[in-house]
Amino acid sequence: MKTLDQLQFDNRFARLGDAFSTRVHPQSIEQPQLVVASRAAMALLDLDPAEAERPEFVELCSGHQLWHDAEPRAMVYSGHQFGMYNPQLGDGRGLLLGQVVNAAGEHWDLHLKGAGYTPYSRMGDGRAVLRSSIREFLASEYLAALGIPTTRALCVTASTTPVYRERPETAAMLLRLAPSHLRFGHFEFFYYTRQHDALRQLVEHTLAEHFPHCLQEAEPPVAMYREVVERTAELIAWWQAYGFCHGVMNTDNMSILGLTFDYGPYAFLDDYDAHHICNHSDHEGRYAFENQVSIAHWNLTALAQALTPLIGEQALREAFRRFLPLYRERYLALMRRRLGLRLAEETDAALVQRLLELMQNGGVDYSLFFRRLGDAPAVLALQQLREDFVDLAGFDAWGADYLARLAREGAEDQAQRRARMHAVNPRYVLRNYLAQQAIEAAEKGDYTVVRELHAVLSRPFDEQPAMQRYAERPPEWGKHLEISCSS
Ligand code: AMP
Ligand code: MG
Repeated sequence: MKTLDQLQFDNRFARLGDAFSTRVHPQSIEQPQLVVASRAAMALLDLDPAEAERPEFVELCSGHQLWHDAEPRAMVYSGHQFGMYNPQLGDGRGLLLGQVVNAAGEHWDLHLKGAGYTPYSRMGDGRAVLRSSIREFLASEYLAALGIPTTRALCVTASTTPVYRERPETAAMLLRLAPSHLRFGHFEFFYYTRQHDALRQLVEHTLAEHFPHCLQEAEPPVAMYREVVERTAELIAWWQAYGFCHGVMNTDNMSILGLTFDYGPYAFLDDYDAHHICNHSDHEGRYAFENQVSIAHWNLTALAQALTPLIGEQALREAFRRFLPLYRERYLALMRRRLGLRLAEETDAALVQRLLELMQNGGVDYSLFFRRLGDAPAVLALQQLREDFVDLAGFDAWGADYLARLAREGAEDQAQRRARMHAVNPRYVLRNYLAQQAIEAAEKGDYTVVRELHAVLSRPFDEQPAMQRYAERPPEWGKHLEISCSS
């Protein structure tokens, strides 16, 4: 276990030079206070959890102090936003403080989000509001607890610094951790500015630091791109299987490592709705839940385009053609697990699809359905779930097929089935209304709600009897919250 001053920095990204990032000093926020910290994220840096109690922790995480060996830098990138190329993006309000090496030899980027103006701030104020910082914190740590690839969040600090969005708010900072903050948009920037030498240098850096196993392949950049396709397919399979709607799948929010990246107006589905649009600025529904698969595919073609100076078009095409089959395979594997199925059968895809169609029209809570399906023996569970559906005949027919399908899996003790299903179907879900309640309390200076919610969600599969209120069906108002895109 380490203290704050024992963290070892090895700033590999800064060493790439000034073509890739600009040195910028963080601008602190006034009267910082620790809102919430993640022990699990601290453990990634081998940090002793008691370090979060020290005044230095808040100072370091709010820009008042800097680690001695940190080298704060704003990264340059561009990207496609809502399908249109934007040549001028970059870290407008976040700074890469450097890379910390843990005892296992892993490098973790420390990124301070909300750290003030940078050369890439454009019209923005360089700040992040408390509301969105809490939302990113909760989601990062919750997705990690579910097993979904994601960036991590060490802590949130609040302040009295005023910030103006649709209403006056206050500034906050989030300390984000990730093995890398490289986005598809980084590669696009060097491609569209025709800096092909820098593009090559960036690919070599990415290979050496993040895909070293690809260096053994005949064509390392092709092997790397192929793996990005695989990881992205895996990521989207998790999102679709767990009902996670990202909301802003611009290429500057797509991680080269296949991590969930840059949380904005995201949502976990309450009632199942394939057409759900969680970003209320997304008028055309480009990033609707059901479009996430095709958008990820589109984004991978945008990345492929950026790599054409280094990789032949044929090889790129072959690699991204694998996306859909890979996605379908991974998605089906996750859905089988959620349904408690261990064997794979040809008709499973149709069984899943029929269930979703029945849910779509029924106002069925997506997460609760799977949890409750494992609660009781299947026959009984189906009877209990039945009342949530509108098309009863359709659900009965589905239930009969599901039971027949289960029978082909062979006999299993109900306690075992329950344990197996509960290990993959969360009891607790990060619903927007729960985040909203935690935010409203925090905005009044009460951080107990966000801390409790974070604690509950860090063990999403475990029964926590005292925390029953977090497992309830959402109230009707809670299903229709409009989450502002401004953050
Ligand atoms: P996002 O919508 O958070 O993914 O950000 C898109 C781009 O806008 C990125 O280049 C951000 O750095 C930048 N940006 C977002 N919010 C701000 C802000 N408040 N101040 C400066 N830049 C921002
Ligand atoms: Mg972004």
